[in-house]
Amino acid sequence: MTYEGIAASSGIGIGKAVIVKEQDLSYEAKKIDDAGAEIERYKGAVDRFTAITSAKADKFEKSVSAKEAEIIRGHIMMITDPFMQSEIERLIGEGECAEKALETMCDMYSAMFSSTGDELTMQRVTDIEDIRKGMLSILLGRAEMDIGECPAGSVIVVKDLTPSMIAEIQKENIEAIVTETGGFTSHSAILARALEIPAVLSVPNITELISDGDEVIADGSGGSVIVSPDKAQKDDYDNRRRSFEEAKAALKQFIGKETKTADGVKLELCCNIGKPADAHNVLEHDGEGVGLFRTEFLFMDNTSLPSEEEQFEAYRKAAVTLKDKPVIIRTLDIGGDKEIPYLGLEHEDNPFLGYRAVRYCLSRPDVYKPQLRALLRASAFGDIRIMVPLVTTVDEMRSVRALVEEIKAELDSEGIEYNKNIKIGAMAETAAAGVVPDLLARESDFFSIGTNDLTGYTMCVDRGNSKVAYLYSAYDPAVLRMIRNIITAGKNAGIPVGMCGEAAADPLLIPLLIAFGLDEYSVSPTSVLATRRTISLWSVDEAKALAEKVMLLETKKEVKEMLMQNVK
Ligand code: PEP
Ligand code: MG
Repeated sequence: MTYEGIAASSGIGIGKAVIVKEQDLSYEAKKIDDAGAEIERYKGAVDRFTAITSAKADKFEKSVSAKEAEIIRGHIMMITDPFMQSEIERLIGEGECAEKALETMCDMYSAMFSSTGDELTMQRVTDIEDIRKGMLSILLGRAEMDIGECPAGSVIVVKDLTPSMIAEIQKENIEAIVTETGGFTSHSAILARALEIPAVLSVPNITELISDGDEVIADGSGGSVIVSPDKAQKDDYDNRRRSFEEAKAALKQFIGKETKTADGVKLELCCNIGKPADAHNVLEHDGEGVGLFRTEFLFMDNTSLPSEEEQFEAYRKAAVTLKDKPVIIRTLDIGGDKEIPYLGLEHEDNPFLGYRAVRYCLSRPDVYKPQLRALLRASAFGDIRIMVPLVTTVDEMRSVRALVEEIKAELDSEGIEYNKNIKIGAMAETAAAGVVPDLLARESDFFSIGTNDLTGYTMCVDRGNSKVAYLYSAYDPAVLRMIRNIITAGKNAGIPVGMCGEAAADPLLIPLLIAFGLDEYSVSPTSVLATRRTISLWSVDEAKALAEKVMLLETKKEVKEMLMQNVK
């Protein structure tokens, strides 16, 4: 039988299923008379949870990387958050037992995160569930199943794979991971990719459809799960696994190499990150800098506005880790699909066309100024550049620049160091930016094309609406012309143009981007070597010859077909 899910971590795993059963965490909620003693019992559980989690994170830091350990450490921050603590104490004070008070708070956070509809925020639900289970098993005195005991050749099959479960995994024993929940950007997917374990997520009811010990093939590149394969299927996937491993090993030759086209044109290959700790990951994967630091995570992982100091430390840390390499930091890109409860954004009928990103920031100097001040202060420690999201007008760029000048004057009078020539660029990701990039280029030190949004705003498609999802494609001639317009305008104005949307790592699109003259590619750290390889296969002339033909085509289907016929 073959089942389909989301291809979340590439590679092919073949092995025996280990079904990870749900732990029994049922209990009877009691009314509490001695609130003081119950609060002490709760605090003891928090201490134990903190010790266990911190040990897991330390182990993870050694076996995987600092970035991944940070996800687990985030659980300690959540459970020790002062708001969480005081609410639990209040609930226990009202007579709830510690287990019930904990669950009330976890339910509240889960409901809050789920309601946003944004995948990045919704993945916090998995973290909350991880905390709930970890804390309950301590409070109830029941041990969690030790996933680290799985024998060699195991394919883990589980409803929801939590980050702390992954921390227990003995990488060498696990062939693949299959789950019923989670998306491409869920923490479990990020961690599976970091461990380079093939993973297929969101396979409906898979824990019911497979039995312990069944032979399973999990194709983390294609997204299928085959249970009890026949000989032909096994041979086919054995071959595919071999080719995958060979291709992966061959990529290693690109470590430490310059990013150059086949005819020697040097390009820049940077990475997209979400947290300062990810900066290590950039270096580990041989990225040449950061092309997009999404600062939303600093705001989303907090229950109140992060202070200027907190932000300064985060930006400084990224800059210091990357030494002289460029670090493009995007100012708060909030609203649309990214909601932050404490910022008090009201419900809007069309949030993607509403009060968000630079629009919100310019109307809230109390939020924007501390961020810009933190960025300027951190610019004394590395090559930080500021990027403004969702720009549609020249006025927006002028207003941001005016605010930066105001802050520079403040810092001068306070005697605080910063880079006086800090570069301020625009994210080109709206239809307006695609039509008047020449005007925006006059106000920008660089452009970075955000194809994720540019595709949506060009095609008028809400990515969450499956009925119109067929229109959402960067291969559409309308999107390709927008991209070409932006790169051409940037070149004419003499400013560098990068791309930080997902299209920058698409091997089919790379020849077009080379032909248009894109200067910088910003991709996820794990895509660096594959992108460097694709770039190395094309000469500018060959890429231009292909682009000339592709740009005459009329539909995205024709475009994709021609690009696939010419893939190297
Ligand atoms: C984009 O829109 O392409 C982009 C890189 O930004 P985000 O995905 O964070 O909106
Ligand atoms: Mg965007």
